[in-house]
Amino acid sequence: SAKTMDQIVALCKNRGFVYPGSEIYGGLANSWDYGPLGVEFKNNVKKAWWKKFVQESKYNVGLDSAILMNPQTWVTSGHVGGFSDPLMDCRDCHARHRADKLIEDAGGHAEGMSFDEMTEYIREHGIACPECGSKNFTDIRKFNLMFKTFMGVTEDAKNEVYLRPETAQGIFVNYANIQRTTRRKLPFGVCQIGKSFRNEITPGNFIFRIREFEQMECEFFCKPDTDLDWFYYWKDYCKNFLLSLGMKEENMRLRDHEKEELSFYSKATTDIEYLFPFGWGELWGIADRTNYDLGRHQEASGKSLEYFDPETNERYIPYVVEPSLGADRVALAFLCEAYDEEVVDAGKNDTRVVMRLHPALAPFKACVLPLSKKLAPKAEEVRAELAKYFMVDYDETGSIGKRYRRQDEIGTPLCITIDFETVGDDKTAADGCVTVRDRDTMQQERVKIEDLRAYIEKKIEF
Ligand code: ATP
Repeated sequence: SAKTMDQIVALCKNRGFVYPGSEIYGGLANSWDYGPLGVEFKNNVKKAWWKKFVQESKYNVGLDSAILMNPQTWVTSGHVGGFSDPLMDCRDCHARHRADKLIEDAGGHAEGMSFDEMTEYIREHGIACPECGSKNFTDIRKFNLMFKTFMGVTEDAKNEVYLRPETAQGIFVNYANIQRTTRRKLPFGVCQIGKSFRNEITPGNFIFRIREFEQMECEFFCKPDTDLDWFYYWKDYCKNFLLSLGMKEENMRLRDHEKEELSFYSKATTDIEYLFPFGWGELWGIADRTNYDLGRHQEASGKSLEYFDPETNERYIPYVVEPSLGADRVALAFLCEAYDEEVVDAGKNDTRVVMRLHPALAPFKACVLPLSKKLAPKAEEVRAELAKYFMVDYDETGSIGKRYRRQDEIGTPLCITIDFETVGDDKTAADGCVTVRDRDTMQQERVKIEDLRAYIEKKIEF
């Protein structure tokens, strides 16, 4: 069924996935807080990524570097001079626009264009302000996206530091430490999950573009001239990661950057895009960055970042392939993918909202439900045992049908009902079994209590 952002945002807010930030004070533009279900869900997204990229990969290791870095880092990386958006205002309605986005929305490619070229393109193609239709724009000016703050007690320019706009640089500056201490040979990758900050001009579409977000980045270091092979390897790996968590191929597309669009140091870049309710949007950027980053850092720091190759006795700066994914963005994609309204009984006008999240991503793996309040002690015993291994919910209020629907709406893959047969009575012996209902098929089966753990374990595999 067709889904809209409004439906998804409403469900997120009503069920405790995502709330508007600082809401009692009227909010803070485009800031969002993850509620009790949202924090579980997003943690599961991050855990899934870590499992595939660190735990299961024979090549990669992890890192957690600081958000605040020596400001020279951002001079070297080019962010101080170049990390800016081309900002343009509408003279009539004063709406603020990114010139590059206006061009892209009109079907063009702005990457690599100068400000003059962008202005020219906008005029030639008659691009108008999306808010009011006017073609009366200000000149384009540069707007740096980095947040600044101060370190220490005085607010002078010397103490200025930046909140990192990407996690990647924390990996590059640690490259030599990691290579030496892990005694890794090339190729190997370093993975990191963490907050990044960008003072976006045009944030929006819920958690798609926000100013404080989390990235999941991998910098994969390899021998010169093997980079393109690894680029294809990681492109495939990333796509398979999304498929393995239930994202449908038809809602995904890989967009290779054209030559003109590539950064000057990049040999190849692909975006994995997802078909959100508001259109295609970049999810994952996969780039062959050559030896640009480590080369720049070696030059600016004066520290050797060369690798000694024991097989060829050569020294060289490693090449880098970078798959960079936004945790909030991919979380939104999984929410959009999962949202479904299903007609259960057309005659009775009965539909249910069901979040078909992959069980590995679902906030709760199961919910324990006593059929009657009298069965609460046994249900609590089952809940407490399962809670040692999984996030499980417990619900004893309302009809069993209503309770099922509440769990469907938050994506809980299994409902476990404790009934009178489970505990038995004077006449019948306890059977020690529970009824397990599947979210997607709504089928039920009897399962022994002692088998529940393995049953859930199997369900959440991916
Ligand atoms: P865009 O063109 O959408 O601004 P970008 O090309 O600047 O993105 P990168 O710098 O390549 O993005 O960042 C890598 C990934 O980080 C993106 O693919 C996206 O998933 C995520 N990301 C970047 N900016 C944001 C943001 N403001 N909010 C949420 N996620 C973001």
